[in-house]
Amino acid sequence: MTAVIETPVIQVVGLTKTYGAVRALDGLDLSIPRGGVYGVLGPNGAGKSTLFRILLGLIRATDGTASVMGGAVTEVAHMRRMGSMIETPRFPPYMTARQVLRWLALEHGIGAATDIPHWLQKVGLTEAADRKVRGFSVGMMQRLGVAASLMSRPELVILDEPTSGMDPPGIQEMRALIRSLADEDGVTVVLASHQLLEVQRVCDRVAILNKGKLVREGAVSELTAVGERLRLTVGPIDKALAVLGAKGTRDGAAVMADVRRDEGPALIRALVEAGVDIDEARWVGTDLEAIFFTETGAVQTPETIHAG
Ligand code: ATP
Repeated sequence: MTAVIETPVIQVVGLTKTYGAVRALDGLDLSIPRGGVYGVLGPNGAGKSTLFRILLGLIRATDGTASVMGGAVTEVAHMRRMGSMIETPRFPPYMTARQVLRWLALEHGIGAATDIPHWLQKVGLTEAADRKVRGFSVGMMQRLGVAASLMSRPELVILDEPTSGMDPPGIQEMRALIRSLADEDGVTVVLASHQLLEVQRVCDRVAILNKGKLVREGAVSELTAVGERLRLTVGPIDKALAVLGAKGTRDGAAVMADVRRDEGPALIRALVEAGVDIDEARWVGTDLEAIFFTETGAVQTPETIHAG
């Protein structure tokens, strides 16, 4: 039996883009697997939008190769299998959401007009379908933009900053929409975002770019599991620390246990046997934000820390 090797949806080798003296992409190598939600992260100017623009055939690379679903980015047949939203979309303000999608279907041949109710429902715009987009919030416009990108029933959707300018309920709705595209419709979603906590919640894998190069790549669960410790809210704390010995440290009203996952159950048994009451036991790892700042050398300020 031969093993089936899935072609990555996006494969980039030595991709370089220069604007005069600026190297927006500097020999970038990246492979994005099919399925799930993939986040591309990086500080301002890291090259995220440049990468997306090349993948969408909007600009040409200076050097290197980029393929999408096994074909060169310039092949029209491959481009038809992807959808995108790379800026907050603009639609004719006098049209309703339904008219916008009809206009795309009938005038531009993107998707079938009969699918429109389905896409409106998918992005949560059924109620607002017959309202003029002039009065739409940023979040509603972004959702209509996603509906427009889905009209051609793409296998891959590229979204640049899909939650920018949104309020927390809007972000939550967009997160649910993105997850359902991947989990229910089997669409591969590739997104760029500055909202690291959001990325950690919605993405399966991430790539961190800095100065046009890849500095870190991996599954979010694996990246954040590094340095994982067990945080225990217990009483009395002194008794718990005595059981833990060198593996325990006090962290405010809790205790941090420097143990591996497979040592957790035995540790909890030992604590209970020693008469320690356990209120809560929770694994805490590194968060994406800490990895981001380490990898990119970006300066952490109170604003950036809470930007997510
Ligand atoms: P942001 O997070 O701010 O959107 P980004 O990671 O998307 O940033 P890019 O927009 O790809 O970064 O820009 C990468 C670099 O290329 C930056 O230094 C930018 O100033 C430069 N650049 C991008 N487009 C152009 C252009 N059309 N002309 C000149 N320089 C450009």
